Amino acid sequence: MHTQDTLSPADTTLQFNQLGLAAPILRAIEDAGYTTPTPIQAKAIPQVLNGGDLLAGAQTGTGKTAGFTLPILHVLSQAPTSTAKGKPRCLMLTPTRELAAQIEESVQTYGKYLPLKSMVVFGGVNINPQINRLNRGIDILVATPGRLLDLANQKAVDLSGIEILVLDEADRMLDMGFIHDIKKVLAMLPKKRQNLLFSATFSDEIKRLADGLLNNPAFVEVARRNTASEMVAQTVHMVKQAHKSALVCHLIKQHQWQQVLIFTRTKHGANRLAEKLMKDGITAAAIHGNKSQGARTKALADFKNGAVTALVATDIAARGLDIDQLPQVVNFELPNVPEDYVHRIGRTGRAGSTGAAISLVDFEEAKYLKDIEKLIKREIPKATVEGFEPPTKQEPEAPRPPKQPQGRRPQSGQQTANGRNTGQAQQKNNAKPQKQHQSKQKPQSQSLGQSQQHAPAKPTMPHGRLISEAAKHQALPQTPLFAPKPVHRGGQRGR
Ligand code: AMP
Repeated sequence: MHTQDTLSPADTTLQFNQLGLAAPILRAIEDAGYTTPTPIQAKAIPQVLNGGDLLAGAQTGTGKTAGFTLPILHVLSQAPTSTAKGKPRCLMLTPTRELAAQIEESVQTYGKYLPLKSMVVFGGVNINPQINRLNRGIDILVATPGRLLDLANQKAVDLSGIEILVLDEADRMLDMGFIHDIKKVLAMLPKKRQNLLFSATFSDEIKRLADGLLNNPAFVEVARRNTASEMVAQTVHMVKQAHKSALVCHLIKQHQWQQVLIFTRTKHGANRLAEKLMKDGITAAAIHGNKSQGARTKALADFKNGAVTALVATDIAARGLDIDQLPQVVNFELPNVPEDYVHRIGRTGRAGSTGAAISLVDFEEAKYLKDIEKLIKREIPKATVEGFEPPTKQEPEAPRPPKQPQGRRPQSGQQTANGRNTGQAQQKNNAKPQKQHQSKQKPQSQSLGQSQQHAPAKPTMPHGRLISEAAKHQALPQTPLFAPKPVHRGGQRGR
């Protein structure tokens, strides 16, 4: 077995016409509106065209269907034989009717300029029309295992001419208890054939199936489709509500953000923050339901063309905002509906680009944070910004100093830079920051005063105490689903 690494930079600009697919297939791809192959297609198509067996790790939504259908259409069309009655050349086995129907539709779509014939069979419907159809001759048969066996038992289908076998969503087929049916089908196939096994996961059972089925297979894999919460580097700053606007100004200036979308919970909050930012010399505009459509359109246009640095929006106003490659989102307050958080951070990190989302969270919002972390199934790393350290609520209040007699100047007051005598009151406030400073050394949370602010969470960072094992795992680069040992492969078709 040999593995293929992740896409090289050259592969990312790979075009369909560089894959060696026949012109009628390329035309159909163009008709479908696809411009470039998806990663699984870029990886799998050359392997299938090569003729060897293939083990592929990919889930629905990655474009895997075209990943095997396109090269199969090519291979079959390059070596045409007269379409035999009830004797297909390619069998695609899938777990469900819906998937079977969908795959056959893809075969039709991509093969529309080819003379190949395809059909789909599945249970739950009258078998006779399927038998009649098979009798008219077939090249590609898409089937669910049970109905296929029924048809084979009735001699309506002859599987001895199968040149290429696809087991799609093999893990689901095993989950659904199809292993015995699959084995029965395999026993009807000719020994010399090409086998392609697609699975989203690789359990021991799948590995056993692959070991028994595949002959020295190539291995290709694409990561799970990433959700916004996986694509976007997320950070939480625990900060008092009253300090949030100052922190936003500080962050924008410190990181020289050119384009930041800020979410507030209320329309008034959006107005207030936009005003505060403007006062601080940051170009800003607010959009929310009370603004006229004209004002909203203008604000958005200014934000897109760079005239406005910060766009402050409420959830409703931000729905459907499509801003290409928006690098930074700030949650001025957390939404109380956790799904809104996912929508908000989904404004950045779109179309495969990376983005960053920072949430400013007052202790009052801790419950919302918990709900969000539960929804996205990960803990969001916490970071502090120098000068904006949160009060450590968990720690007991510093003991009150003894009450000074009224009217007397404090004995141990300190002179501040501006010459004011802060007195005992200041001493009391000092008790906490000192303690915080100590706890930062430990460290309780990550101090990101500098430009790492929006860097993706690194599990090795010294905020381990705040991150669960699961969150650390999530933050790690995606490891392969299954890493078979590389073995030299002969490259010939069949077994
Ligand atoms: P699948 O993972 O095979 O179920 O495919 C998911 C969706 O991606 C289907 O709706 C396909 O039509 C679409 N698709 C497949 N390949 C491409 C491509 N190269 N570019 C754009 N969309 C694609």
